[in-house]
Amino acid sequence: MSTSRGNATRTRPQKHQNKSAYKNDLHDKTNKTKFLNNLDVTGVCKRCKDIIDWKIKYKKYKPLTAPRKCVGCEEKAIKYAYHILCTKCATKRNVCAKCNTAVEANEPETEKSPNVDLQAMLKGLPERKRRTIMRAINKTCGDGNMTPEILSQVEEMLKDMDNLDLGDDEDFDDFGSDDSDQSED
Ligand SMILES: [Zn+2]
Ligand SMILES: [Zn+2]
Repeated sequence: MSTSRGNATRTRPQKHQNKSAYKNDLHDKTNKTKFLNNLDVTGVCKRCKDIIDWKIKYKKYKPLTAPRKCVGCEEKAIKYAYHILCTKCATKRNVCAKCNTAVEANEPETEKSPNVDLQAMLKGLPERKRRTIMRAINKTCGDGNMTPEILSQVEEMLKDMDNLDLGDDEDFDDFGSDDSDQSED
């Protein structure tokens, strides 16, 4: 687009630098689909299950390639993507393995405001990132009506941000950059 005159060095970046590349499994759907169809989402609260189901449905689910560190026992014992607690810790504490809230408290479906999830998800984020996300959310749902779809999208955004690495996000690396090596051509 920019015809920068007189600039002889052609070092402008290519236009599409595939920065977020979750389309890269377009050609290898079968394995993944098979895997996902067999995936039983357990050990999480209703809302987190909705979120994960949504990811599965829209092929955004990215299985872990290696066990992830549990925030409870600090062992690399997590086998499922998006979980922050291993099955053992989650069971022991009787909490959701993903959002780490008491499973029982979640049971009446309407009791917990989705916004609480959102707060939890954004907690510990640098102000800059939080604002970026809030802006995106407001665009998607002006009335602040959180749905699993939106929460999932927030998660995707958080992931992308991880990859973008805006800096000072030390607090956040429990939330998944395990599979950040997907953007090779
Ligand atoms: Zn654990
Ligand atoms: Zn949960």
